[in-house]
Amino acid sequence: MNFKSWPSEIKSKALTWALGLARALGLAEGLGLARAIGLSGALLLAGPAVSAKESLSQTPSALRALTTLPDLAEIIQTIGGDRVQVQSLLTGHEDPHYVDARPDFVAQASQADLLCSMGLDLEVGWLPRVLSRSGNRSIQRGGPGFCEAGRSVRALDVPSGPIDRSMGDLHPHGNPHFNLSPRSMAEASEEVLRVMVGLRPEWQAEFESRQKDFVQSMAKLEEAVREKLQVLKTSGAAPLVIEYHQEFTYFLRLYNIPSLGSIEEKPGVAPSAAHLAQVAKRARENSVRLALANPSSPRRTLRRFEQLSGVKVLRLPLSIKPSHPELATIARLQHHLADQLILALGTKDSEQGVQARRDH
Ligand SMILES: [Zn+2]
Repeated sequence: MNFKSWPSEIKSKALTWALGLARALGLAEGLGLARAIGLSGALLLAGPAVSAKESLSQTPSALRALTTLPDLAEIIQTIGGDRVQVQSLLTGHEDPHYVDARPDFVAQASQADLLCSMGLDLEVGWLPRVLSRSGNRSIQRGGPGFCEAGRSVRALDVPSGPIDRSMGDLHPHGNPHFNLSPRSMAEASEEVLRVMVGLRPEWQAEFESRQKDFVQSMAKLEEAVREKLQVLKTSGAAPLVIEYHQEFTYFLRLYNIPSLGSIEEKPGVAPSAAHLAQVAKRARENSVRLALANPSSPRRTLRRFEQLSGVKVLRLPLSIKPSHPELATIARLQHHLADQLILALGTKDSEQGVQARRDH
């Protein structure tokens, strides 16, 4: 029977099977993929083998996906499995509000089927320039490869009423830093799935199934981190922490860690000397125990805050960092944040917690 005369549906299924077999053979016998494909093609057809090139042209090509944050890349990789090749523009070391629209970002964007950002204006300072310079129609706003994960997230601190610049520069549509909440990342995966299925409807069932797994894994992660943070439970709702910029808010609210708010006057607006003195006084009066900042939050302002308030500043990562094994996944970052908070907020509580877990 001539393979070329097979109905295309069956051909595509057979080729998917052949590729799977090729991979298995390649793994088992240490063969190169091309040789393995040839071998499995021969097994499949028991006649003239289809060339590897011809086989590959029959199945939809893997999705080339780009993300702004590496945290989003984890969602896409989890949903897409080996159907995607995903890369993140940022490494996790940057403050995502303030990034340059670098030429290599533009070059990468020009090749992508899909570009996924956090949205809620987190990347508004640089991403629109990358998109417009890329000349890639698919990934422009409204295009099939345009994805803003924040669209399916219940955003915190959404301003009510008309938006104007007096509210600050950075969070006009609500707080965009949802990547530090596993629950919000599960919500975000809905929008990511929608865009991925739109681009590759052939793989809808497997994308949906893996997205469900992702949602479940985020729920389990939330549970584990909540359990870990039990040791922080102190009397009532007295604020334990204050943030420099409200970038840990999703984490803090998810796990019911009371916060006094932010040291910044408004999102993206550095505090004046008078405001800094006032907020330091409030922090001291409320016995706040820790101020949270990211690695690039302004040093001098935070040193001054420490002097005025007596509250120690703890700098924490804002995003997963694939180059740091201990911070390389959403789960590891969650545990890292929890561990750092427990460590900084006092050994007495932590020891009690460890003891309670031992007794359990
Ligand atoms: Zn922000």
